Amino acid sequence: MPRPISARIHPDSIRRNIEFVRRTATSSRVWAVIKANAYGHGIERIYPALAQADGIALLDLDEAVRVRELGWTKPVLLLEGIFEARDVEIADRYRLTVTVHCDEQLDLLDTAKPRQPIDIQLKMNSGMNRLGFRPDAYSRAWRRASGMASVGAIGLMSHFANADDGGIDWQIDEFDAATRELPGTRSLANSAAVLWHPRAHRDWVRPGTILYGASPTGSARHIAGLPLAAAMTLSSRIIGVQTLAPGETIGYGRAFTADRAMRIGVVACGYADGYPRHAPAGTPIAIDGVRTQLVGRVSMDMLTVDLTPCPAAGIGSSVQLWGDQVRVDEVAEPSGTIGYELMCALARRVPVEVDAAGSIDPVDSPVAA
Ligand SMILES: *Cc1c(COP(=O)(O)O)cnc(C)c1O
Repeated sequence: MPRPISARIHPDSIRRNIEFVRRTATSSRVWAVIKANAYGHGIERIYPALAQADGIALLDLDEAVRVRELGWTKPVLLLEGIFEARDVEIADRYRLTVTVHCDEQLDLLDTAKPRQPIDIQLKMNSGMNRLGFRPDAYSRAWRRASGMASVGAIGLMSHFANADDGGIDWQIDEFDAATRELPGTRSLANSAAVLWHPRAHRDWVRPGTILYGASPTGSARHIAGLPLAAAMTLSSRIIGVQTLAPGETIGYGRAFTADRAMRIGVVACGYADGYPRHAPAGTPIAIDGVRTQLVGRVSMDMLTVDLTPCPAAGIGSSVQLWGDQVRVDEVAEPSGTIGYELMCALARRVPVEVDAAGSIDPVDSPVAA
C-alpha cells in the first residue's frame, strides 16, 4: 500500500468560483489566471472548469502552448510578455496576447514579421515598481506600439501593490490620468480588487487565487462567508498514536510539552510533502471531520496532532491538512506565508487525484474564521 497521503483537485470548485467572480464583477470579462501550473493544481486537471472564463492568463510559453493544445480558442495572455525574438514567432503561431512592459519588448515586436498582428496588453507601472512603463512614459509607448504593423489591439493594464489591504485609489488615479486620452480595454483587478474594489473592475478582471478558494490577503477571516470553495484538498491518515503523561515532550527539539495526559496522533505528512515546516502548535487540522490542532515540530515525513477533541480517532483515521474543513490560509498564515505558496509548493511525491466530472463538494463549508 502506498503511503496514505494524497491531494485531490476539485475542478467544480473552480467552476463555481469563476461564477462567483462573474456575479461580483458583472460587467467585466474574466482572465482566469492559471500561472505556475494553475497555482499548483495542474493546468490539465482543472482545464475543463475554465469554460466560463473569457481568457486565460499565465506566464510560461510552454503553458500557453499547452492550453492551445487542449483546445482553448479564446484569448491567452502572457503576463510577462516575450523574452526573445523567437517568442514572437510562438506568440504568432499560437495567437497569444502578450504583455508589453518595456521598450526592449517593443523593439522585439518592431523587428518581427508575424503573419498577423499580435494583440498586446500595454502595462503601466502605476506604483508597484515591478513591471511596466511609468505613467509619464506611457502614452509615448502607446503611440509607438500603435504605429507598428506587427501590433494588433492594444489593451491598457496595470497591477496593484496592495489591493489586499486597502489603498489602491492612488494607483487607479495614476492609471486614469495617464490613459485618459487613450482608447482600448482596461484591465487592473487581481483577486483582491475583484472582491473589494469595484472601481477597479473595468473591462477585464484578472483573478488568480480566489479561483482556487484561497484568500488574497493570506488570511482566511477576510474571505469568511464568501462562497469560495477550496479547489485542493490535502489529506492523509493517522499512522501512529502515542499517549503522553504530563511533562512529556513530542518530536524534534522537544518543542511541545504535554501539560496533561494527552493522546497524540502521528500523521503521514511532513515538510517534504509541502506542509510548512514553520507551522506552529495550534495550526488547525481536521481528523475524521473534527478540527483539532498541530502539536510539536513538523518533521520531513510526519507531523503530530492533539487527539483530545476526537477520542474515537486512531490509526487509520482520516486527516485533512487543508481543503474544505481547514482553509489553506489557516495553515499558511500562522506559518508566515500565504495560501498561494502552499498550493504551488505541493511536493511532487504527493499523488494527486481529480474529482470525476460533475461530482459535487460542499459549496460553503463551515470553516472557522
Ligand atoms: C498573478 C497575477 C494576477 C492574479 O493575482 P491574484 O492575487 O492571484 O488574483 C493578476 N495579474 C497579474 C499581472 C499577475 O501577475
